Amino acid sequence: METVLLIAHTEADGVLARSAREALHAARMLNKTLAGSNLVVGLVGENVQAAADSIAACPATRYFGVTGAEFTQARYATDATAAEAICRAAQATIIVAPATSRWNRVLPGVAQRLGGRVDTHVTDVAEVGGQPAINRWYYRQRMEATISRTQRPWFMLIDPGSQPACECGAGTASVEMVTVSLPEACKRTTVVGVREPKADAQTIRPDAQLLFVTGAGWTKKQADGHTHVPEAEKIILEFLKHTRASLGSSKSLVDLGGEGQAVLPFLSHLNQIGQTGSTPRHPKGLSTCCHGEEPHTVGWRFIAERRAISLDPNCGWARGKADVLYVADAFKVMAKVNELLTKG
Ligand SMILES: Cc1cc2nc3c(=O)[nH]c(=O)nc-3n(C[C@H](O)[C@H](O)[C@H](O)COP(=O)(O)OP(=O)(O)OC[C@H]3O[C@@H](n4cnc5c(N)ncnc54)[C@H](O)[C@@H]3O)c2cc1C
Repeated sequence: METVLLIAHTEADGVLARSAREALHAARMLNKTLAGSNLVVGLVGENVQAAADSIAACPATRYFGVTGAEFTQARYATDATAAEAICRAAQATIIVAPATSRWNRVLPGVAQRLGGRVDTHVTDVAEVGGQPAINRWYYRQRMEATISRTQRPWFMLIDPGSQPACECGAGTASVEMVTVSLPEACKRTTVVGVREPKADAQTIRPDAQLLFVTGAGWTKKQADGHTHVPEAEKIILEFLKHTRASLGSSKSLVDLGGEGQAVLPFLSHLNQIGQTGSTPRHPKGLSTCCHGEEPHTVGWRFIAERRAISLDPNCGWARGKADVLYVADAFKVMAKVNELLTKG
């Protein structure tokens, strides 16, 4: 009989992030489909009662908590000790966790301590022949595999954005506190502060409804024989300001900076989508001034509705990569879109 443990850490304000609720959805799916299994929850944080109460209506039979000031910040030694203690207390055979940067770093080590196995980048869970199974993509999202394992405990790190968030309601959860002893050596690392870009400089927004991709065309010579980079910059930033879209880029555009050409200063390789870039998840995508070649569009695997604006009617988008292709000048189209957004 499987014991499915959802293990999550609280955020700085004591609540559960959406990614934790997505992992809870996956844990519930396993619990529902695996006959005789039971669902338990483990929480780590300074104080976990509010987080536990927020999901108290889910069918978990027990709640475990490791709490205290030492568990507020992300730190390998304390997080691993807490997660290990919860897994042991729950006697968990399957551990489902959100693939946050905090858990991605820690849980593979915990799996090793417990003699288990871990799978990262899990995009779905299922029951196959009465056994648990996971879905995972390989070769830069080109191949999808279903995997099952006999080894226990089995840790599954669920990719944020791959599941609906569990909508179970609030209530009052009875949390069983798990005590851990932390030697001083576990507390040597301290987070002294957080450095992050200003809100308007932060162009990568994983939760945005829209992915807006800019390609090298924005910096190329246009019909008048000149480049129009400052105008491109203005149009793109204005669109982002109106829509709060996440900004992606083709590799060619972000590479241009390294080649000494005029580029858009707010773009870095972190914005690159594709085979050697990222594969974000957004309900919609709009590509502009980008050719839509396979190494780029492979990063669009999880974009549900795709549109593109390119001058070239034979570009990759026209060859089955986009739902809608506007063969048009992106400078003109986006300026008009911005005008409509300003009015609306
Ligand atoms: C191993 C490998 C890995 C790679 N990984 C990636 C990756 O991760 N991500 C990635 O993006 N690429 C990747 N590439 C590169 C990829 O093959 C393409 O070279 C790149 O995506 C092209 O970028 P682009 O479409 O912006 O530029 P271009 O190919 O130069 O296309 C520019 C487009 O802009 C259009 N255009 C110009 N002006 C306008 C205008 N005014 N209005 C509308 N359209 C206009 C042009 O018609 C053209 O279609 C990889 C390549 C290899 C070999």
